[in-house]
Amino acid sequence: MSTFVAVDIGGTHIRTAAYESDNTTPLTHKRTRSHAKEPGTFDRLVRAIESAWPEDRSVKAIGMASPGPLDPQTGVVLATPNIPEWINFPVTEKLTEHFGVPAYLDNDANLAALGEWKFGAGRGHHNLLYLTISTGIGGGVIINDRLLHGHHGLAAELGHVTVLAGGPVCSCGFKGHLEALAAGPAIVRYIREQLEAGAKSALQSERNLNAYEVAQAARNGDALAKSGYARAGEYLGIGVASFLHTFDPSIVIFGGGVSQSGPLLFDSFEISLQKHVFNPRYLENLIITTAALGDDAGLLGALALAQLKQST
Ligand SMILES: [Zn+2]
Repeated sequence: MSTFVAVDIGGTHIRTAAYESDNTTPLTHKRTRSHAKEPGTFDRLVRAIESAWPEDRSVKAIGMASPGPLDPQTGVVLATPNIPEWINFPVTEKLTEHFGVPAYLDNDANLAALGEWKFGAGRGHHNLLYLTISTGIGGGVIINDRLLHGHHGLAAELGHVTVLAGGPVCSCGFKGHLEALAAGPAIVRYIREQLEAGAKSALQSERNLNAYEVAQAARNGDALAKSGYARAGEYLGIGVASFLHTFDPSIVIFGGGVSQSGPLLFDSFEISLQKHVFNPRYLENLIITTAALGDDAGLLGALALAQLKQST
């Protein structure tokens, strides 16, 4: 039996948990505010880990999920917009110094993919594609049972592939990326543009629209709201068709809030996917499903990372 501590840090919360071997029910579990825009995030991280540290057991390693970009080999967070003070920040080195055990880092989408592969919807699959769709789009790819990292550790940034040259500006500043056409804010932006152009919709009076409200209106039959999701689904199909051509997975797993919208998004997605895949063989026995681990995907991915690193 080995004990591991898993960490999932984001712009709003730090979650920490201790696990015994492969048991996905945590021994301890804490959730605190990260206040990541304010100084002192590392001290808050240390306290959050301490609060989940099991006193009666010896911890073998710490696994940590963080927003990227980061370097999974060196454990350095490069410059994540969610935690502004961490620029080239050697977080695993500092954690090892403080806690005296090895610490391992990877980005949250990669670890959600790893978590689903080891404990969730992707169990038993050797080639897996994971996409999280919420305020942004993140990706993780497992090929032959290994996370794809690439030369710089920057592979699988699937939200930042171009699906419409010259299209809307992405959160990264470039134009026409998948995230700028299919994430929650992209759906809202499209609805706003259409309203300003005079489209009729029950959403007309809403001031601070969000993707959830658009989904509600679509379920109530609002044509504009429905078209917003259908358009996102179409671009998602264009993107995923290219990912199938690149990675040829046996399963595609969707996580994140926007992927909870069901047929609103996925009806047009499936039509688009079939239209854009250049050989139908990619779709034979392909499983397309939603994530099984929900909010715990990052933590369980961090657990899987720590276990894998300790066993190699
Ligand atoms: Zn982008």
